[in-house]
Amino acid sequence: MIQKMFKYYYVIARRALALRAEAISHAMMEIAYSASTMSGWVSIRRKKQERGYPSTSSGHRSTTSPRNDIRLLLFFLLSSCAPSGGLWGYAPITVAPTSTVMEWPTPLPTLTPAPATETLISTPIIERVLLVTFDGLRPEAINQAPMDNLIYMARGSSYTLNAKTIFPPWTLPAHTSMLDGMCQSKHGVTWNEYIPENGYAVGTDIFDLAHAAGLKTVMVVGKEKLRQVTEPASTDVFIFKDHSIGEDPAIAKSAVQEMKNGFDLMFVHFPNGDIVGHESGWLSKRQLTAYHEEDIAFKTLLDGLVANQLERTTLVIVTSDHGGQGTNHITRQAEDMTIPWIMAGPGIPAKLLTTPVNIMDTAPTIAYALNLPIPLEWDGVVVKEAFGLEPETRKSACQ
Ligand SMILES: [Zn+2]
Repeated sequence: MIQKMFKYYYVIARRALALRAEAISHAMMEIAYSASTMSGWVSIRRKKQERGYPSTSSGHRSTTSPRNDIRLLLFFLLSSCAPSGGLWGYAPITVAPTSTVMEWPTPLPTLTPAPATETLISTPIIERVLLVTFDGLRPEAINQAPMDNLIYMARGSSYTLNAKTIFPPWTLPAHTSMLDGMCQSKHGVTWNEYIPENGYAVGTDIFDLAHAAGLKTVMVVGKEKLRQVTEPASTDVFIFKDHSIGEDPAIAKSAVQEMKNGFDLMFVHFPNGDIVGHESGWLSKRQLTAYHEEDIAFKTLLDGLVANQLERTTLVIVTSDHGGQGTNHITRQAEDMTIPWIMAGPGIPAKLLTTPVNIMDTAPTIAYALNLPIPLEWDGVVVKEAFGLEPETRKSACQ
C-alpha cells in the first residue's frame, strides 16, 4: 500500500513538474478556488450532482480521496512557482462563477510510473474518440452565448481559440479536410451541397482508417451533405437528422443511443448555429441563443458518456468548420477562418496550446489517439502538444 502511494505521488510530482506556466496557473486557479471557498465547494458539488457527474467526496469515498490528495500536493508543489498576473489573463475563455464545475474531464494520472514523458502520456487509456462540431462556431460565441458546458470542458482541456480552417471556409470542404486530414486540392470536395453524383472525398480518411482496423465508426449529422466526406462502407452507423425538423436535441439523443451500443470513433455534428447565422447574422442574439441551446445538447452527449461509464476512457474533441460575419462565411478574413479546437480526456494536460492548429490536424490527432497509422498523403499533423509532447513540424499549409 505504501509503495503504491509512493508511486502515485511520484507520478503526480512528475506531471506537476512537467506542466508549463499556463497549466500551472490553471491548476492554481482550480486549487485556490476550491480551497478558499467552502461554500463554493459545496455549490460545485451540488452543481456536479445536478449535472450527473460523480461527486469527488460522496459518502462511499473518504475525504482523503486521490483527487483531494492531488489538489493538496499540487498546491504545495506549485505555490512557490506560480506565475504572476491574472490566472486566466492569457485565455479568452474566462472563468464564469455561475458555471464553475471543474472535475470533468480533468486529466487522470496514471498509477504506473514511467521513465519517459512519451511513455507516460502514451499509456493506452484512450479507448475511443468522440468528435463534436458546432457548425459555424466563431470562438467568441462560446463566451457570448454562453456555452457553459463547453467552457466547463475547455477548462480541463488542451485548447486553442485560434485554430484555422481551410479556404473556402464552407461546411462540406472544411469538414472533409477535418476528417480526411488533407487540403481541399487533395480531397477534391469543391462543392458545398449534397450532390450524390459527385461521389465521395478522394483519399483515405479517418473513418476509412478506423473501419479498416476493425473499429466501430459512427456519424450523427445535421446536414446530409456530410455523407460525402467518406464512403458509406467506412461508417458502421450513419444517421442524418434533418435540421429543419430534427434539431439538435434529436441529434444528441441519437448519438447517446449509439453510445449505448458502443463505438470507437463517433462524429457528431450540430448544424443549427450556422443555419440561424445565415438568417439573423453571426454573433446575433438569435444565433447566440442557438449556440446556447446547442451547448445543452452537447451536455446530453457528456451525460451520455457518464451514463455509459465511458467518460474516463474517451477522448473528446470539439471544433468547428468555419466562423462567419454578416450572414455568411466566404472570405479569408479571420472572422470566417478562425475556429476553436478543444481536446479533453485521459492524459490530456489542461493548457492553452501555443502551436498553430489547423483544421486538417484533427484527423491525424484522432488517428494518433486510436493508434492508427497516419497516411503519408495527409497534410495535417498530430497536435502533439495537446498530449503533452513536443510539437511536430507542420508539413505544409493549404493554398
Ligand atoms: Zn453556413
